[in-house]
Amino acid sequence: MPIKISHQFDAGAIDVISAVNPQQIDLHIRKDSHAEFAQWFYFRLQGARGEACNLRFLNAGKTTYPAGWNDYQAVASYDRESWFRVPTSFDGTVMTITHTPERDSVYYAYFEPYSWERHLQLLGDAEASPLARIIDLGTTLDGHDLNAIVIGNPAAAKKIWVIARQHPGETMAEWFVEGLVGAMLDPDNPVALQLLKKAVLYIVPNMNPDGSVRGNLRTNAAGANLNREWMTPSLAVSPEVLAVKTKMHETGCDLFLDVHGDEALPYVFVAGSEMLENFSPAQATAQQRFLDCFVQASPDFQTKVGYASSKYREEVLKLASKYVAHTFKCVSLTLEMPFKDNAINPDARIGWDGDRSAQLGAAILIPVLDAMA
Ligand SMILES: [Zn+2]
Repeated sequence: MPIKISHQFDAGAIDVISAVNPQQIDLHIRKDSHAEFAQWFYFRLQGARGEACNLRFLNAGKTTYPAGWNDYQAVASYDRESWFRVPTSFDGTVMTITHTPERDSVYYAYFEPYSWERHLQLLGDAEASPLARIIDLGTTLDGHDLNAIVIGNPAAAKKIWVIARQHPGETMAEWFVEGLVGAMLDPDNPVALQLLKKAVLYIVPNMNPDGSVRGNLRTNAAGANLNREWMTPSLAVSPEVLAVKTKMHETGCDLFLDVHGDEALPYVFVAGSEMLENFSPAQATAQQRFLDCFVQASPDFQTKVGYASSKYREEVLKLASKYVAHTFKCVSLTLEMPFKDNAINPDARIGWDGDRSAQLGAAILIPVLDAMA
């Protein structure tokens, strides 16, 4: 039986150069649909059961984050439920997955995907709780709904905003949201019960539906990097940001989390807002308190490794968390999770994955509650 590679499904993305010989399957990582970014891949291989396959990504060294391939292990799944890491090497130019599929059909991806179907299920499951409402914020360029889950009473004193997947290929961000929402809607969770006495949560599980379904790493259907659009979002280029920013100005914001994944660093970390010119001592104290509490709440979180705070000097207010910190003078963080593994808590078989992201999403409610004190 000849081998076959396909990608015509939700978030599927790969360019096939040659798929004849299982020992030398040659591929290119595809660019985003309307931008030069290239890193996300997700495809299906059929007909290679029992064959020692070498899947070679010939342009890996020319992708957006080549450092992301150092010490990286790709993920695979037979059923798209259970994902595991497969041996992967990178020589600076070509990345190679070496794997012998045990079944006729196997999927390979950059990270455990989070499908549009699962997104819709998340909304439906959330609204089954009397604590949650689903609000429609607008429509994307491809015609997807942009929804938020509102948990708690909108009249509550404090407004918490959580957004995820501005960069659609960072699927761990929506897994994180799934864990956070599940914990918030658990009627036996004492942290959630206390939090609901003080705050309402506005949660956007997927800021970039078009990019997600298209299999983009970083951009929407217009090729826009949404996390550079917060100063001047527009209906034509970044309706997702325009809709969320408009709603946020309507509600106010007392705490903001923008959830991401980092291609290179094998750690969970945050980027704060200390580089802002008007960052106040009160904001600095509150930010540090949040980080200290988060370290206590989750052994997966740490503050030793992260971005230098000078990383975003240029036009910094285009970034969501900086714009929000500047505008609402609140704790406002970009949370990054690894595509690789968590070096302080490694798991060789699975690496960092959806479940661990969800656990982190539940754990962050402890510092979030602390911040409402
Ligand atoms: Zn990101």
